Amino acid sequence: MSKSLQAIRGMNDILPEQTPLWRYFEGTVARLLDNYGYRQIRMPIVEFTELFKRSIGEVTDIVEKEMYTFEDRNGDSLTLRPEGTAACVRAVLEHGITGGGQVQKLWYIGPMFRHERPQKGRYRQFHQIGLEVFNLDGPDIDAELIVMTWRLWGELGLRDAVKLELNSLGTSESRGRYREALVEFLSAHLDKLDEDSQRRLKTNPLRVLDTKNAETQAILADAPKMADYLDDESRAHFEGLKARLDAVGIPYVINPKLVRGLDYYSKTVFEWVTDKLGAQGTVCAGGRYDGLVEQMGGKPTPGVGFAMGIERLVLMLEALDKVPQELSRQVDVYLCAFGEAAELAAIVLSEALRDRLPNLRLQINAGAGSFKSQFKKADKSGALYALILGDDELAQQVVGFKPLRGQGEQQSIAWDALAAHLATCVVQG
Ligand code: ATP
Ligand code: MG
Repeated sequence: MSKSLQAIRGMNDILPEQTPLWRYFEGTVARLLDNYGYRQIRMPIVEFTELFKRSIGEVTDIVEKEMYTFEDRNGDSLTLRPEGTAACVRAVLEHGITGGGQVQKLWYIGPMFRHERPQKGRYRQFHQIGLEVFNLDGPDIDAELIVMTWRLWGELGLRDAVKLELNSLGTSESRGRYREALVEFLSAHLDKLDEDSQRRLKTNPLRVLDTKNAETQAILADAPKMADYLDDESRAHFEGLKARLDAVGIPYVINPKLVRGLDYYSKTVFEWVTDKLGAQGTVCAGGRYDGLVEQMGGKPTPGVGFAMGIERLVLMLEALDKVPQELSRQVDVYLCAFGEAAELAAIVLSEALRDRLPNLRLQINAGAGSFKSQFKKADKSGALYALILGDDELAQQVVGFKPLRGQGEQQSIAWDALAAHLATCVVQG
């Protein structure tokens, strides 16, 4: 195929073989969020570039080098959203739904866009499920977010494969004091820092903690610790969070170097990480951002949230063999009809079955065909049973009911008994 007719590098089709697993994952998360009282919000995929510059911060990786930014026909600078928090904050402010201290517990799902180097678990269009809570400032809600994800890992069978890392970044004041101490320390070792860290030291010094460079990491071993600079309020908040996680029995490790890539976090930050996906180990990340709404022009409004990467979690389910068996079958019953009169009866009969059994997954043979070819298609569909309608069956108002996976002999079933029979052997839920 010519190059121009291929998908863009790092932007993937999700093929029909893969969508059952995606829908299982998305459905599981959606049900969980419903059960905890979160409501879905849907934001546009494109926003003014300014929104992301203001919220994420000019000197972050995302804004510096990962955004898909373009000018539209009006000459406005627009950007394909690289994450969901900025747009969600914009939306709640625009619609005034966090005013007067109103609590909002919101979630969203959809594609995000970042111009990164594509590799396993890292793409240019990827998908997140994210969640934001506004106007609750205590550790109880931070704990709820983590407890909820812990439950999700349990439902998906992933608990043994993920690890929770926690840190507190303090308030912007205590973080400011820490930043000064860190800059002073690192400046004294400037010539030994890697190039990226030298640059970050000037623009976003906390990000130096995040470095992958071994030499810089060695220097950081003696650097001042964020925990020593925490203000009392942040310390109490962090203790409150840990007490709740301990009470529920959720294991965690404190990672003093966890700073997150974005500028807007304060107090709690956390990441769920795995060693099952190589370098792309973070499957869910989030934290508190009490200053963000005000920074974006709203009244002071505490906020906390997280986002998880759907591709990475789907990869994990596959890698750990946690794909539920029942996802492999998409069809329960395949109806074969032979001849024009039988085809007419088949469509009427199948509509009546769908009326009676709304969850029945019934596929009617399309495109006619011989006995042999229809059975071949029935078998290939993965169905458990084939229904057979030919002239003889039509005359007697019955169908042939043929197990396709070795569960007994073919039998004849009267049309008016068929729904009840199918209900006993295929329809659940
Ligand atoms: P990373 O350190 O892996 O680049 P991040 O800190 O940039 O992640 P966030 O902005 O916190 O990621 O996004 C939340 C989650 O979205 C990540 O934990 C990850 O699971 C997923 N994610 C982020 N970027 C990508 C990407 N390019 N491709 C696939 N998933 C991604
Ligand atoms: Mg990133």
